[in-house]
Amino acid sequence: MDLSRYIRDVSDFPKPGILFKDITPLLADPAAFEAAVIQLADHYAAADVGAIAAAEARGFLFAAPVALRLRKPLVPLRKPGKLPYHTHSLKYDLEYGQTELHMHTDGVAPGTKVLMIDDVLATGGTMAAGCRLVERAGGVVVGCAFLIELGFLNGRAKLAGHDVFSLLMY
Ligand code: IMP
Repeated sequence: MDLSRYIRDVSDFPKPGILFKDITPLLADPAAFEAAVIQLADHYAAADVGAIAAAEARGFLFAAPVALRLRKPLVPLRKPGKLPYHTHSLKYDLEYGQTELHMHTDGVAPGTKVLMIDDVLATGGTMAAGCRLVERAGGVVVGCAFLIELGFLNGRAKLAGHDVFSLLMY
């Protein structure tokens, strides 16, 4: 199935000059959504994966069904003030200012092989922060998987040393 048919380009969102890749048409089509989940999961079916981690919010949309399909634990990475238990946290830079990701201290046991999932790889800042947070807890990142990679932003450079896989490349 050609998944690119289910990605809508939206000009000037969230600000002028940005061409936003909108995944909601894919989410709205169960066959396309299922195909994306199966393609992501199948890529790692034979890999040694102990857990799946994803940052809110759109990462959850793909990480949750992939985790179920691979029968692996799902570890949410969240913005401050969302996780109820003790957390590890990590600050990282956005285009303007800073933000922070949190993960429960018992989310990833030391030595766990973790597959990271997000919807879109843009500059790579979000995924790089997620990887560092998982590694700080002693996890070993075995891959970073995306539905969409915006290749022209060269997010892979920020993920150097990690295996990067994406279903759609722009
Ligand atoms: P990065 O940190 O610059 O790689 O941005 C990645 C994050 O921003 C991901 O979690 C995406 O959900 C979101 N994002 C960036 N660009 C787009 C886009 O064109 N469409 C959808 N989400 C995007």
